[in-house]
Amino acid sequence: MNWLSQIRHFVFDLDGTLILGNQVLPYARETLGLIRKQKKSFTVVTNNSSRSIDNYQRFLTHLGFSIRPSEIHTSGKATAQYLNSLTHEPSVYLLGTRALVEDFSSFGIACVNEIDAEPIDFVVLAFDQEITYKRIVEASILIRRGVPFIATHADVNIPTDRGLLPDCGSLISMFQTSTGVTPKVIGKPNIEMIHPVLRSHQVSPEETVIIGDRLYTDIEMGWRAGIRTVLVRTGDMSGNHLASEGVKPTEETDNLEQIYRILAQENGI
Ligand SMILES: [Mg+2]
Repeated sequence: MNWLSQIRHFVFDLDGTLILGNQVLPYARETLGLIRKQKKSFTVVTNNSSRSIDNYQRFLTHLGFSIRPSEIHTSGKATAQYLNSLTHEPSVYLLGTRALVEDFSSFGIACVNEIDAEPIDFVVLAFDQEITYKRIVEASILIRRGVPFIATHADVNIPTDRGLLPDCGSLISMFQTSTGVTPKVIGKPNIEMIHPVLRSHQVSPEETVIIGDRLYTDIEMGWRAGIRTVLVRTGDMSGNHLASEGVKPTEETDNLEQIYRILAQENGI
């Protein structure tokens, strides 16, 4: 893993890589601290679009991480950036949490609730833990009218302390079954998720590494974007069969310790 010393920007998956539920994984805080000390940069990336950037910053700070809002990237934020790249000040029918509505408005996106009152540019489906049947109905009417349908991510389930629970991908299936329309998906492994990160840190794929626990999201995103990857075996290996054919990480490691040691060596620690 000698190439690691040439990396300027580190992209870390969150769940299963830096934390597991509410627990910080070994060497997670230390590795981020070391990267900062070396005047390199990092981004923590998650497909979970139910929390806002602000929510995540408070949560991670509470867990002892030193992290700025600009260092957190969710599929919700990537979706807002994508919509802004298509339309100036878009208006959106958003199936998402109140936290995500706040994130969208901070990106200049209006979330509209009356489907007949004003023109709506996009229907956006996020990990909406506050969804109601009324809102499912309104969204499906818009999708049938031909309003472009976007989903923040396609994870089918979210692992929790109550077991696997339905995530955004399960909601996508419901809309697909009802309307026959497949949404455009933004989150990992899609390149729309990682391109804004490269742009905002002004780094090339060659200067970047993606470190994550899932072959079919983290590692596949690196594979699609031409970015080197490290698979850490601390999280969810159950969906390996979901990755596209030929996807494999540049390196594999049991946990973050090896990455920490390589970076520490550079720093003479
Ligand atoms: Mg993960």
